[in-house]
Amino acid sequence: MALKAEILSIGSELVSGQNLDTNAPWLARALGELGIAAAYHTTIGDDMDDHVAAFRLAADRADLVLTTGGLGPTQDDLVREALAKAAGVGLREDPESLAAIAAFFARRNRPMADRNRSQALLPEGAEALPNPIGTAPGVWMTIGRAAFAAMPGVPNEMKLMFAEQVVPRLRLRHWVERVIVHRKIALFGKGESDIEADALDLTARGHVPEVGITASDSTISFRIRGEGLTPEAAWAQTEETAEQIRSRFGPLVLGEGATDVADALVEQLKRTGATIATAESCTGGIIAHLITAIAGVSPYYLGGVISYSNQAKTDMLGVPPELIREHGAVSAEVAAAMARGTFERSGADLAISTTGIAGPGGGTPEKPVGLVYLGLATADGVETRRIEIGPEQPRDIVQRRSAKQALNWARTTLLAWPDRGASR
Ligand code: AMP
Ligand code: MG
Repeated sequence: MALKAEILSIGSELVSGQNLDTNAPWLARALGELGIAAAYHTTIGDDMDDHVAAFRLAADRADLVLTTGGLGPTQDDLVREALAKAAGVGLREDPESLAAIAAFFARRNRPMADRNRSQALLPEGAEALPNPIGTAPGVWMTIGRAAFAAMPGVPNEMKLMFAEQVVPRLRLRHWVERVIVHRKIALFGKGESDIEADALDLTARGHVPEVGITASDSTISFRIRGEGLTPEAAWAQTEETAEQIRSRFGPLVLGEGATDVADALVEQLKRTGATIATAESCTGGIIAHLITAIAGVSPYYLGGVISYSNQAKTDMLGVPPELIREHGAVSAEVAAAMARGTFERSGADLAISTTGIAGPGGGTPEKPVGLVYLGLATADGVETRRIEIGPEQPRDIVQRRSAKQALNWARTTLLAWPDRGASR
């Protein structure tokens, strides 16, 4: 007989429709991945009788019950007491949980309120599930025929507890035999449909391992899902496909995991030992922000200017006023002069610039909204690129996409440079 799981979401704000229940669908998918089908989703408010009735019903009809919410320190958090009532046992204080809660407050230099003590209570016979990122420990116990895992409502805390505490317990019971791994390989520089067109054999239905493709902020990701009886076997199943993607897409590949364009650029800066500087007009500092968001970049990023006005382009970067008058601020000539000015003034090995029409106003037939010129200067000279993000795109998309294009241009330029210390 197939295992039956019930997912119980707790909170009056969920029943009333005030807040959206995202925990239940997340858990249902996570269980499904592990080969356990959810048979019931139940949502209850913060009422003791409803808790006890729902827990008893679940204990009666399911083998595994996952609850989220109701573990907090306040009056409306009733789960610990309700679990004890449903099981017909008393509550005891768990010294380890109490110590963990006290330590949580101590790390933040905050006094622990008395009512937080209630979060260390456990029904007799239950086990605490540690919560390393919050105060509320979870509860693991048996009621009737069912195993109960009560987890916090806060999604991050719930997800971590599920992965670290609940799944291993399901494995111990041999309810989960499979291991599933997801690998993500990020690409930048071509559209989703172009990339997919070159990978139709991999993304085809029935391909083993399963490969999906998603786009976020013009970064395209392949997701490879591997399955096996051990983590090593699941990983091994993805290896060949990952290698195919890497070799097929070459310089488009940014890397694996949460990598995006700026991470991949910084990786190249570290590899080559090159330094970079920026001059931004239409991107208003987004490039500088994306670079400086990465820890450890300070030896490589020398700095940048936001030369937004024509005057600033002249004063900060030495762009000749005649050049701006003749070609306009949004032009290849000005992008080049901005990059050259930054290159010379900063002493960086590589300088990038942006100037464009972010919109929604200011577009003309020759220079529509979304038109951006990029400049790139190195010791070899200055180059420019004209890109069109699209006149229908909102301002923030024009800014973010052109910033990422500039970062990617710097990245792909560096791909051809030798390792730090080797001669160029
Ligand atoms: P609780 O553990 O009931 O105190 O819930 C703490 C917080 O977690 C709530 O204020 C919500 O922001 C969030 N939360 C609780 N249950 C859910 C749920 N089912 N889906 C998404 N967020 C939730
Ligand atoms: Mg609640």
